Amino acid sequence: MTDNKDLLASVSNVSTDTEYFSPIPEGYIKGKTKYVIVLGTVMSGLGKGIFSSSLAKVLKDKGFKVSPIKLEGYLNIDSGTLNPFRHGEVFVLDDGIECDMDLGTYERILDQDLNRHNFCTSGQIYRDVLNKERHGEYLGRDVQMIPHITGEVKLRLRRLAMESDADVVFVEIGGTVGDLENAFYIEAMRELAYEEGEGSSCFVALTYILAPKILGEQKSKAAQLGIRNLMEKGIQPDIIACRADCEVTETVRQKMSVFSNVPLEHVFSMHDSKSIYTIPEMLRESSIDKIVTKVLRLDERIDEELEAKNTKQWNKFTSKIGEYDSEITIGITGKYTTVRDSYASIIKAIEHCETALSVKVRIKWIEVTDITSDEKAAAFLKDVDGIIVPGGFGTRGTEGKVACIKYARENNVPYLGLCLGFQMAVIEFARNVCGIKDANSSEIKTKDSASVIGVLPEQKKIEKLGGNMRLGGRDVEVKTGTFAWKLLGEKESVRLRFRHRYEVEPDYIKSLEDHGLVFSGKAPGHPIMQILELPGHPYFVGTQSHPCLTSRPLRPSRMFLGLIAAARLRKYPDKGYPEVLDAVNDVFSEGL
Ligand code: GLN
Repeated sequence: MTDNKDLLASVSNVSTDTEYFSPIPEGYIKGKTKYVIVLGTVMSGLGKGIFSSSLAKVLKDKGFKVSPIKLEGYLNIDSGTLNPFRHGEVFVLDDGIECDMDLGTYERILDQDLNRHNFCTSGQIYRDVLNKERHGEYLGRDVQMIPHITGEVKLRLRRLAMESDADVVFVEIGGTVGDLENAFYIEAMRELAYEEGEGSSCFVALTYILAPKILGEQKSKAAQLGIRNLMEKGIQPDIIACRADCEVTETVRQKMSVFSNVPLEHVFSMHDSKSIYTIPEMLRESSIDKIVTKVLRLDERIDEELEAKNTKQWNKFTSKIGEYDSEITIGITGKYTTVRDSYASIIKAIEHCETALSVKVRIKWIEVTDITSDEKAAAFLKDVDGIIVPGGFGTRGTEGKVACIKYARENNVPYLGLCLGFQMAVIEFARNVCGIKDANSSEIKTKDSASVIGVLPEQKKIEKLGGNMRLGGRDVEVKTGTFAWKLLGEKESVRLRFRHRYEVEPDYIKSLEDHGLVFSGKAPGHPIMQILELPGHPYFVGTQSHPCLTSRPLRPSRMFLGLIAAARLRKYPDKGYPEVLDAVNDVFSEGL
């Protein structure tokens, strides 16, 4: 490869006459940050995000600072307006960005907060290029896919490198090689690798080895053609990771190697494993991490002591996965119950608790639109040990949720209400305890009802949709001495993540409190209620936030832990399990 120092020196952020347009942020040091680029071939849905985040984790464990970025093909600016039914859960980052659920996978596996720089869509790239064009930044030039759109992608990555001060940026390209909508990302990666120079990038192709039942053997042709497609685009993969049900045979790996100029020891089997959390260890055992550090010339900088410590801690956690001494059932009411991905973070938060408390949690999905009466709620919920009413939008299914909450409150069934589930708990309490029969949310019913839940003052002026709710991480002031205060580790302030437009109407707070509802968390300096509890009930907690978004394998959400511990006590009152607060505190004192 030719030295391209002069080439980079000659280009800048603004238009020039040269064809070598490649914007470099001021202060960027070429070669300082390395790039691992993960692409998919054959098909999507193979867990590229899980693979990429696990690989990033393995490098992080070695002492490298990592920062991931997901390059999405779609034109939406963010995921805020996407229907979870179509695209899975909308994940929210601390800085308020609404993004793809894969970013949640990165945060959980890396145990690291991400921000807007870690998420990029085609829409953002086009928007930025068109804005620059309108501001005359390309004056005199015809603005083109190459070099301007690809230049913008490279600019993003280099900015991320600088902003995060990462040693290694992990780039995950959405979709598969061959998708028209991702083609410019792939071209941008080819250009980036060339410009950054040898030893700066490592291309990992994640492919799929078919094993049709009628043949009874693994077939690699589709995978070979996928890699060829990538090579036709000027990218020589450094590593091929073969996804498959069962371990990929040596013969198949050899075929892949011969076909793609990738040495056999760089072709790996990434077959299904019992838990996504065991993938980092699988990568380490296969030595894929060593190939990455070799390609990126990082071998000398590995902190082996730190790696041993981190690996030990992680493996202690994974060794406990599946080790249960009890089993409970949690009912989750929702509208999107046919698509599990729409509740991905809730499922993950429950998984973290399962391992921490050694209790198997069966989830009973309750299609809430089917619940049209208190009797139906009782019939659906009679065999559950705890109930979660998750977040949601709009009217459909809300009456069913109120009926479920009433059942939980009256029958001492542990309850956790998340966002809409918090608001519905307030409505249920207002109706059935305070006697405000027509209590509702103004999101649901605007006329002739008592809006105990109303639109946030800052939201009243907003008309258009997209990125304008109360979003992201906020500090929550916790009332000393309350159950929530004890549950959350006796802290006066906790940080939680939000995504809502409505709140408890301040005018009703006093009446609700007078009737026994306790608001144990609120926004500092504002009468925005954020945590509620019901004294005398074994576990009745609601929060305007989404604690599932910040639950991490080694640091599970305390609100979820509380629910599971309470549900376990309800199911096994005589088995000597600790009380809720003790059970939660034990998790943190023992260290996972
Ligand atoms: N629809 C409610 C609101 O906007 C709840 C939002 C949610 O559950 N994420 O406030």
